Amino acid sequence: MKKEIELQQKKIEYTLRLSKRARRMRLAIYRDGAFVVTAPQFVGLTTIEQFILRKSEWVIGKIEYFKQFSGRIFIKNTKQEFALHKESALMLAIERMAHFNEIYQFSWGKVTIRNQKTRWGSCSKKGNINFNYKIALLPAHIADYIIVHELCHLKEFNHSRNFWNLVAQAIPGHREVRAELKKTGVSFF
Ligand SMILES: [Zn+2]
Repeated sequence: MKKEIELQQKKIEYTLRLSKRARRMRLAIYRDGAFVVTAPQFVGLTTIEQFILRKSEWVIGKIEYFKQFSGRIFIKNTKQEFALHKESALMLAIERMAHFNEIYQFSWGKVTIRNQKTRWGSCSKKGNINFNYKIALLPAHIADYIIVHELCHLKEFNHSRNFWNLVAQAIPGHREVRAELKKTGVSFF
């Protein structure tokens, strides 16, 4: 359940989880700023609040620390992750390419998924397109932008004004999406 507590003159929201298995109280602050308090089932709210108050310096410090990452996306780059997400990345790419191609009516060759450190996707002169498996882990609107970007290289093999006009047909707000993408771990084209 959602709760609120005042720590160092700041109202801080937290999620309280009462657990049958928990033996003692536990505080956790996540990268997205979420603050979760786990307590044994029959501990009263006063005790819980006193516990949080005693740790207020730590709580505030952590929340402040994680603020710098807000809006960023974290993706692990391992072989296991690749194996795990390769298939869904391919399904996503094929499905969204078909969707956006209703606008463009382009044709392409092979679509492949790769594990790359520095690129989100590429398009060869032969019209083969490849994507980084991490598109499956991005917010949908960012993955869409990457897919449209490569799709448009089928027609414009550069980043000219014509190219961006083409991208804008499917994604009018592509500038903002690109700015968002830059904040992520890997952001090369
Ligand atoms: Zn490009």
